[in-house]
Amino acid sequence: MLQIRDLSVSYGPVRALQGVSLSVPEGKLVCVIGSNGAGKTTLLRTISGLLTPGSGEVTLRGQSLLRQPPHRVARRGVGHVPENRRVFPDQSVQDNLILGAYTRMGKLKRDALNAELEGIYTTFPRLKERRQQLAGTLSGGEQQMLAIGRALMLNPAVLLLDEPSMGLAPIIIDEVFRQLQALKARGLTMLLVEQLAYRALGVADYGYVIEHGRIEIEGPAAQLRADPRVQAAYLGHSST
Ligand code: ATP
Repeated sequence: MLQIRDLSVSYGPVRALQGVSLSVPEGKLVCVIGSNGAGKTTLLRTISGLLTPGSGEVTLRGQSLLRQPPHRVARRGVGHVPENRRVFPDQSVQDNLILGAYTRMGKLKRDALNAELEGIYTTFPRLKERRQQLAGTLSGGEQQMLAIGRALMLNPAVLLLDEPSMGLAPIIIDEVFRQLQALKARGLTMLLVEQLAYRALGVADYGYVIEHGRIEIEGPAAQLRADPRVQAAYLGHSST
């Protein structure tokens, strides 16, 4: 579904990604794990058209996504749940969800929009209870659900998730990962970047380890969990 080939991205003299290649097959959840500053956010922002790579290629169903503005990449079917959630704090929960469908507004009839909202509320009943509440007053976990729900309103071909665990209590992180598992069971294609390697590899089909902007190790998630190099570097401190 999503292919990244030999991608390199720099911020001026800082090389953030160097020759990164990975693929996300249809219906699979692929994770990229790595520590702070490894290049995870840069990878997702480049796929979404927010950053322009120095070289490399990004394709969705074989068609290039590069050199297109972010709204067009979204319209092609790339949903992005950004780092730190970034909901619109002064808008209601429901308006945040409706804004998620903005690229489809021309085509989506009101009944269809309402049906999609109901679908999101079935997945996240908590959001239904709070649909008139301002998004900025939600808890961190609720805001994360809202950010995921908003991206789902795009009806994405692939969903990019940037550290959905960030800043959340362990019990809420459990809930977020249960939701990712449920979305995976429904066949959604996802690319998840996470510092919490143990959690990410617990839900993913396949994983990549990124260090200093390069993919160092890759393999089926179960194999990575058993890999002594991954255990030594990432699993010891992140399994709780
Ligand atoms: P984190 O988990 O902290 O978000 P990350 O793995 O997502 O880390 P990136 O945010 O992609 O990593 O950063 C990759 C590298 O690029 C780091 O060395 C970082 O300092 C650098 N970098 C990121 N954004 C910028 C920027 N706007 N200007 C300059 N350097 C940047």
